[in-house]
Amino acid sequence: MKKILLGRTNLEVTKTAFGALPIQRCTVDEAVEILNAAKNAGINFFDTARAYSDSEKKLGIAFGSSRKDIIIATKTHAGSLEEMKSHLETSLQMLQTDYIDIYQFHNVHEVPDEDNPMYRYMLELKKQGVIRHIGVTSHSYQSAVTAIECGLYETLQYPIFCLSDEKDLSLTEKCRDNNMGIIAMKGMGGGLIDDPKVAYSFIENYDNVCTIWGIQKKEELNDFIELEKSGIALEGELKDKLQKYREELQGEFCRGCGYCTSACPVHIEINNCARMTQLCGRAVWQDFVTDEWQAKMQMINECIECRACVEKCPYGLDIPNLLKKNLDHYEKFLDEKAIV
Ligand code: SF4
Ligand code: SF4
Repeated sequence: MKKILLGRTNLEVTKTAFGALPIQRCTVDEAVEILNAAKNAGINFFDTARAYSDSEKKLGIAFGSSRKDIIIATKTHAGSLEEMKSHLETSLQMLQTDYIDIYQFHNVHEVPDEDNPMYRYMLELKKQGVIRHIGVTSHSYQSAVTAIECGLYETLQYPIFCLSDEKDLSLTEKCRDNNMGIIAMKGMGGGLIDDPKVAYSFIENYDNVCTIWGIQKKEELNDFIELEKSGIALEGELKDKLQKYREELQGEFCRGCGYCTSACPVHIEINNCARMTQLCGRAVWQDFVTDEWQAKMQMINECIECRACVEKCPYGLDIPNLLKKNLDHYEKFLDEKAIV
């Protein structure tokens, strides 16, 4: 498997890496099987987070005894030093390890500076060898730039994928110039891209980017392993398909990051409802017309237009309007498919 150097960490990670958010939805046995299959195929980099419920625990069960053969990144979303200490202790326990290769501040809006007690604690942990490198993850371009320019972080995790605009893509060069590792999340656009060949061949052109592909099923893992072997190029039909995705998703679209959802006082599942038009355009549209999804979409009618969600969206989307557009499209879609 192709490996790259992750900036100044000197960690040699496989360019095709494993995003362990989706294994929350697997049973323990399924997760352990898929994680071991990934490792056996040569993937050496696994990214998880304290916020991903039992994902760290599943990694610990799968890799407790072979810890040294792999590189683990996890994240803390702590809001205080005390909480961070507790997160770290839990992460180490769940992962069945005594060190973390990359410990990341999870989804920062304001990047912790050198005087921040949590950052200072990270430095202390690094001295003790409990963590090896300090990273940061964000969905905000401005925060990403701050994280790169401040020189305090060794890795940046950011959504970089085939629908990213030039501004976001420029972060890859900015990371290179600053000898910082860049870890791409949302490789499949949070579910908007349904052809791994397009997503994979696009990111292959960015030689300093390691993508943590969100993997839940064996078939998904196999797709990426096959693509890695074939070294597919973005040309011909794939290029045309990428162009089609771009035309369809032009303008403002929800990336499904979920940062707005907890702000909604009427509990609309914004991260999915605001991109239902795209989800229904996928080959597996049947998954999104169940009674459960119809009920979730009807919740949009409960929106009180408080715009609390808008303040949370790193992409500045006009969420209430986006939700309404998605509901209109959804109702027409149900009519077309004669679904009652
Ligand atoms: S504007 Fe609507 S969708 Fe957004 S938080 Fe308020 S109620 Fe929820
Ligand atoms: S509306 Fe914005 S914050 Fe909410 S899930 Fe979509 S991209 Fe994320």
